[in-house]
Amino acid sequence: MGKPIWDEFPEGIGQPFYHAYYKAAAEQHPIQLEEYYPPWDRWFENRIYPSPEGLTIFFQDITDRKRAELALRDSEQYLRTILDAEPACVKVITADGILKAVNAAGLAIIEADTIEQALGQCIFPLIDPAHRQEFLKFTKAAVAGKASILEFEGTGLKGTRRWLESHAVPLTIPGDASPYVLAVTRDVSDRKRAEAELKQLNAELEQRVANRTADLSKANDRLQTELMERDRAETALQQSEAQFRSAFDNAPIGLALVGLGGRWLRVNAALSDIVGYSAPELLETSFQTITYPDDLQTDLGYVQQLLNGDIRHYEMEKRYFHKQGHAVWVQLNVSLVRDRRGQPLYFISQIQDITTRREVERMKREFISLISHELRTPLTAIRGSLGILATGALHQHPERAQRMLEIATIDTERLVRLVNETLDLERLESGRVSLVKEICNADALMQRSVEVMGSLAQKATITLAIAPTTAQVWGSADHIIQTLTNLLSNAIKFSPPQTMVSLSAAQQGEFVVFQVRDQGRGIPANQLESIFGRFQQVDASDSRQKGGTGLGLAICRSIVQQHGGKIWVESDLNQGSCFYLTLPVPPENALWQLNKS
Ligand code: ADP
Repeated sequence: MGKPIWDEFPEGIGQPFYHAYYKAAAEQHPIQLEEYYPPWDRWFENRIYPSPEGLTIFFQDITDRKRAELALRDSEQYLRTILDAEPACVKVITADGILKAVNAAGLAIIEADTIEQALGQCIFPLIDPAHRQEFLKFTKAAVAGKASILEFEGTGLKGTRRWLESHAVPLTIPGDASPYVLAVTRDVSDRKRAEAELKQLNAELEQRVANRTADLSKANDRLQTELMERDRAETALQQSEAQFRSAFDNAPIGLALVGLGGRWLRVNAALSDIVGYSAPELLETSFQTITYPDDLQTDLGYVQQLLNGDIRHYEMEKRYFHKQGHAVWVQLNVSLVRDRRGQPLYFISQIQDITTRREVERMKREFISLISHELRTPLTAIRGSLGILATGALHQHPERAQRMLEIATIDTERLVRLVNETLDLERLESGRVSLVKEICNADALMQRSVEVMGSLAQKATITLAIAPTTAQVWGSADHIIQTLTNLLSNAIKFSPPQTMVSLSAAQQGEFVVFQVRDQGRGIPANQLESIFGRFQQVDASDSRQKGGTGLGLAICRSIVQQHGGKIWVESDLNQGSCFYLTLPVPPENALWQLNKS
C-alpha cells in the first residue's frame, strides 16, 4: 500500500476529502463533492467510485465554474438583501399563479413562516373570490406583455384580510422559456380604510347636508307659508280695519273714542257736525270742556260707575256747548273697553243729535197743553152755555138765555182765533209760508193798520195817531200789517180810555224802525222777553177779560224774524209800553227793478 493521497495535501486541506473517501469506502456508494483548496486558491470536483479494487477518483479543477457560481450566488444574495429591504411585496409568479420568488415583505403579506412554505404554492386562492377573475385577467395581461395595476382584496394564510395594490410587468428569466410575472404589491389597507372612512364621512356629510337642506327647505316652506299666512292675515286685517274706519268715519251718528281722563281720542265727522268743532279742535279738548255744566255731574257719576265695573254701559240725554255758544241736546251712549286683564282702556261714545226730537217733544207737550188749557177752557164755556140753553130752563128768561148765547159766541170766536193763530204760527215757523217781498211805504202800512183797528179804538175811546214818514221797507205788506194790527190791538186792549196810541216809522241805516207806543198799564220788567213766547201773558185773566190767546206776539216775532228784523218792547209800569220792530230797507237792485217797470 502506498501512502494515502491526502497525506500529499498541505496542512488543513483534504480533510473533507478524507471524510468523503472514508464514507464512500464504508458505505460502498459513489460520492461527488466540490472542494476548495485554499493554498492553491482553486476549486476541485472529486468523484469517488468505490469498487472492490479500491476507489476510483476523478479529480477535476472546477475553479472557473465555481467562481462564476459563487459570483452569481453573491449577486443573488445581494439582490435578495435589497429585495428583502424593500417594504413592498416583490414576487415572481407563473402564468398559473405559482409563486417562484418572493421577498420578506411578500412573505409577511402571504403570512408564510418560511420561504419554503410559500414557494411553489399557487397564490390565486389567496385572492378574494370577488376579485379573483379580475386578478386572473390582470396576470394574463402581464404575461402577454402588458404592464398594469390592480387593486384587490386578499387573505393571508393566517386569515388577515388586506387591500392590495399590485403593479405587474412581464418577466423572462434567461434560459427559461416559461413566461413569468414580476409583481410589486403594496398593502393599501390603511389607504383603503381611510378612503372608505372618508367616503363614509363624505356620505355622512352629504347625508347630513341633505338632511339639513331638507330641514332648511322644510323650514323655508314653513316660513313661506307663514309669511303668506301673515300677508293674508295682514291684508284681511287692513281690509277690516279700513271697513271699520270707514264705518266709524261715515257713521250718521256721532262716534268717539274717549280717553279715561275724558280727552277725545278719535272723533268722526258726524260728531264734528253736532258740536261745530273740527276733529283737530276736538282732539285738543275733553268731553268735560264742552259739556253743559248742569249735565256734567250726572255724566261723571256714570263714568265712575263704569270704571268701578258697577255698570257695563250707560245712556243719558245731555247738552254740549256748540262752538257757537248755544246748547245742543244729544243722546249719549257710553261703554268702556277693557284689555284682556280687565284694565280699562278707553270709552266708546255714541252721540246722537236729539235737538229735533226734543223740539218735536216740546211741540207735542205744547200741543197737549194747548188742547188741555187753551182750547178746553173756551170749549167748556161753550158747552156749559149751550147745555143750559138745551135744558129749556131759560125759556122764561130770554135775557139770561141771550147772555148764555153771547158767552158761547165769544168763546167760539176765541176758539176760532186760537185755532187760526196756532195754525198761522205753525205755518210760519215750519217755513211753509213763503213771504212774497216787495217795496212797501211804511206810511201806507201804518195807515192800513190804523184803518183795520179804527172801530176797536173808537169803542175803547183810544186815539190812534200816525207820524208821517217817507220810509220804505222790503217785505210782505200783508204780514207787516198783521204784525202792526196785532201790536195796535194789544195797545188798545191794555190802555185806559181817553189815551193815545201812536205809530211811527223812521229809517236807521239798513233798517226802518217802527214804534207802537201806548200809555197803558205797562209790562213788568221780568216779562219783557217772555211775552213773546207762546201762550205767555202777563196776567192769567188777560185771555178771559181781553179775549187774547197769548199767541199774537209769538206770531209777530216769527214774521219779523222771517224778514230778517227784530222785535222787542220797552215799558214803564203804569206809564205805558213801546213796541219796536225793525224791517229791512229795500235792496238797491229792487229799486232799480221798480224804476224800470
Ligand atoms: P194776547 O192775545 O193775550 O194779547 P199777545 O201775545 O199778543 O197775546 O200778548 C201777550 C201778553 O203780553 C198779553 O196777554 C199781555 O199780558 C201782554 N201785553 C201785550 N201787549 C201789551 C201792551 N201793549 N201793554 C201791556 N201788556 C201787553
